[in-house]
Amino acid sequence: MQLLAANWKMFKGPREAREFCAAFVPPEGVEAVLCPAFAALQAAVESGHTVFAQNVHWADEGAYTGEVSAPMLLELGVAGAIVGHSERRQYFGETDETVARRTRAALEHGLRVIGCVGESAEERHTGQTELVLKVMVEAIADAAGGRDGLVIAYEPVWAIGTGEMATPEMAREAHALIKGLLDVPVLYGGSVKPDTAPVMLAEEGIDGALVGGASLDVESFTAICQAAAEISSSS
Ligand code: PEP
Repeated sequence: MQLLAANWKMFKGPREAREFCAAFVPPEGVEAVLCPAFAALQAAVESGHTVFAQNVHWADEGAYTGEVSAPMLLELGVAGAIVGHSERRQYFGETDETVARRTRAALEHGLRVIGCVGESAEERHTGQTELVLKVMVEAIADAAGGRDGLVIAYEPVWAIGTGEMATPEMAREAHALIKGLLDVPVLYGGSVKPDTAPVMLAEEGIDGALVGGASLDVESFTAICQAAAEISSSS
């Protein structure tokens, strides 16, 4: 079953989250997951939709100002977390080591994890894509240690929020590489929109999408989920 995850980033407080959730009806045949900011998690959970956080700390509790732990998320009814999003790596000093620690703790507690990997434009242009993906995926795979609940999102950094989606061929190659390292579902992320989703989601080895900008609008996220549902029902 394809997995469609809505990464709302730092948009939507509780009121807007409630409005979205009330209007959102995921189609049959796909799994849709909403990933609000911490402040809107409870509102989204109360709606009955499946909810993931956008990050999770490795400690159960402690002097880590600004962080949230796996037990806290579980107490709220949150089912999983995004880990290692490129915006965390770029702006908040997230490294493969901290991504690994977050992944391990989340999975140990029974949260599901969407572990994000992807190359920058410079890394792609200098032929380092394979190496970068290998290092990032192996860090997450080692931390996961074969535990259930892990999904990888391939998100080329240059495609996130830019409107410039990877070509299906680039995504196919990256997904094949990742699946060769780790036997888990792999989502594509990077400027997926309702008009581009059908082509990308039909590609072999693409098990769903992590959607940023286009997930903020309930009609556009629903359209992306519907595209995935149609592909699943015809295959
Ligand atoms: C993301 O934030 O994970 C993402 C893929 O964003 P966008 O769809 O806006 O490129």
